[in-house]
Parts: sequence; C-alpha cells; structure tokens
Amino acid sequence: MKYEELGDRIKKVYARVRTLDDYHWELYEDKILGIHKRSNMVVRIRIAGDKGEAEKLSEVKEGQGIDLIVVPDKNVFYIHNGAFILTFKYVRATLTDINDHIIWSGFKTIEEDGKLLQEDFYEYLGGMLIEHLKANMMPGQDYVFWQFYRCEECGKYVDIDSVAAHLKWHGIRIHEKSEERYEVFEINFRDGKVRDKFGKEVPMEQFSDEARDFIRETFDNFRD
Ligand SMILES: [Zn+2]
Repeated sequence: MKYEELGDRIKKVYARVRTLDDYHWELYEDKILGIHKRSNMVVRIRIAGDKGEAEKLSEVKEGQGIDLIVVPDKNVFYIHNGAFILTFKYVRATLTDINDHIIWSGFKTIEEDGKLLQEDFYEYLGGMLIEHLKANMMPGQDYVFWQFYRCEECGKYVDIDSVAAHLKWHGIRIHEKSEERYEVFEINFRDGKVRDKFGKEVPMEQFSDEARDFIRETFDNFRD
C-alpha cells in the first residue's frame, strides 16, 4: 500500500501523532499502530464514523494493547469497554498521557545465545491514568510516580535509590542479584498521600526509614 492510498481520516490522525517519538508508527488501511518504544506496548488507533460505531468497535479486541477510537464529533472523550473514544484533536494528548503512565518496574538478566541480556519490565498504570484525567492532574506538578522495592527481609517498601544501602544493612549484596522487581506508587502532592497502582493508600508504617525520609523530602521539595 502506498501512503497516498491511505484514507483521509487516517492520514489526518497520523499527521497529529507522528512527531511523538515515544512510539514507532505502523500504518494500515483501517488503523494506526503506535508501538511504545521503551515497553513495546501497543496502542491501536482506529477510526469510527460515529459514537455508536466506535462503541461497537470497542468490543472487537485485536489482541493486547490500548485502544483509541477516533470519532468525527467534537469534544468527545470517554472510556467504553476499556477503549478511549475520542475526538481527533484529543488523540495526541492522550498518547502523551499514556506514555506518562508507562513506568519502568524492574529488570532481569537472561541468558540468550551465550550472552547475558537485560530484559526490562514496564507497568502501564491505566487505572491511575483515568483518575488523573478525571481530576485533571499533571505529572511533576500534582503527582510523581516512584519505584519501591519490597524488602525480602523486613517486608517494608524501600525507595529505589535506597535499596542497595537498605539491603546491605540486612547483609544482602545487591550486585549478587540478577533480577529486581519494583512496585510503582504515586506520590500525590495534592493530598500528601502515597498510593499503589490501584489507588489504595500505602500507610507510612509500610515504608522503611529511608523511604519515609525520601517521601518526606519529596513533599517538602514540592512545597518550596
Ligand atoms: Zn528490609
């Protein structure tokens, strides 16, 4: 297929998103695929004639990934069957929001063809994304995401930068590990709380001393 043969609406949507370099773009007759570069997560952008058609399309899941369905109507933005149904002009901002909610959550060193490779893990915080959209919350301004490691010795959550020192204190040497998995929490500046990916508050008692200091400092820096 040649570029000129693509439908007008596909081309218009593509022209809006193609300068977002967090994604690789693939164009098809009936859809655009954005492959998130860091995580390989797929965002599928399809085109519908109206909201009814979009809702029908939302029932057709073409595999794993995040669905965006573009409608010609103005000022449409809602979620149906887990798909974003939206006006053409909201597509770009939504892709940026999705990118902001795909967070690195660990790694594993794997052996492959005689080499040792690092495989990275990412988490898509879709539930949080919806909450942030509803409350009109901006990353870096109203909240930040941060990685915490659940200590295998004491069960407390340790902020990522304190893990080496914390584990050393238990007598565990971090450089002997070939795998680490983290939980991504939201540090919310609006209400001064820390939440897990489901939006449930994580009480301060569940954090290690270092992590509590880190959280306190993060809130203090935000206030300045
Ligand atoms: Zn510990």
